[in-house]
Amino acid sequence: MQNKYLICTDLDRTLIPNGPASESAVAERLFAAFVARPDVTLVYVSGRHRALVEEAMVEYRLPVPDFVLGDVGTTIYRVGPQRTWQRYEPWESAIAEDWCGLGHSELENMLSDLSGLRLQERSRQNRFKLSYYVNADEDIAALINAMSSRLESRGVHARLVSSRDDISGLGLLDVLPARASKRHAIEALMELEGFTLQQTVFCGDSGNDLEVLGSPIPAVLVANARPEIKQQAVMLAEQSNDSDQLYIADGDFLGMNGNYRGGMLEGIAHYHPPIRAWLTNSVEKAPGATS
Ligand SMILES: [Mg+2]
Repeated sequence: MQNKYLICTDLDRTLIPNGPASESAVAERLFAAFVARPDVTLVYVSGRHRALVEEAMVEYRLPVPDFVLGDVGTTIYRVGPQRTWQRYEPWESAIAEDWCGLGHSELENMLSDLSGLRLQERSRQNRFKLSYYVNADEDIAALINAMSSRLESRGVHARLVSSRDDISGLGLLDVLPARASKRHAIEALMELEGFTLQQTVFCGDSGNDLEVLGSPIPAVLVANARPEIKQQAVMLAEQSNDSDQLYIADGDFLGMNGNYRGGMLEGIAHYHPPIRAWLTNSVEKAPGATS
């Protein structure tokens, strides 16, 4: 059987070069050429909701993906060349069970008296994503414990994910259905579309990518990731015996520095030698394009 590739990528500071590190000039063109291959299915896996993904696609001239797993894995859209954005409803029905059929506002009410939490803007909330800002001086572990026991006492199975906005420095805390995650959404998509682990690669850079970086899904951590994320990813992969399925880009591929798309391509080439050869050939055919 001819091989096919499911390339799943985080957006901010992985595919989108919007962090302080620089991107090698050739990376954008080479990535666009790679994902235009007919054997590549491109998936965006992001904390962003649909409108913010569309905004990023315009602002950063991103290729149109085949699928978008949005809102940290709580929504699955089939996008495709016609940009139809068809929502995959069975996924939302499945994760609704984790919240016992309760909605966003009911969970918000359950947690409204806890101090240290500040609701994020309406545009950053959705049916299955209750998102807060957390003050920098807050004891985040204690807060998560208090929230978890409150929710569990009402039979709500939630997953609490804390991260940090690299640009604003604000603490972020998302309350999600237990099964809604980047990893589970990718696994659901693999099953839906018939992709094996060997055909799949995930690329990420930060806290909410760790669950995939330390999983059996072949994963790439781009070189611009913070050192503590690299340490945590290595530790998680070791703990679950998945060290062979974690590649940390270090910038030794085709003269690129390993940041953002350069790191993604380096990692994809690591897992797939035919792609390494194809990318190498593409660069050689356009000499002088690297920098
Ligand atoms: Mg990111």
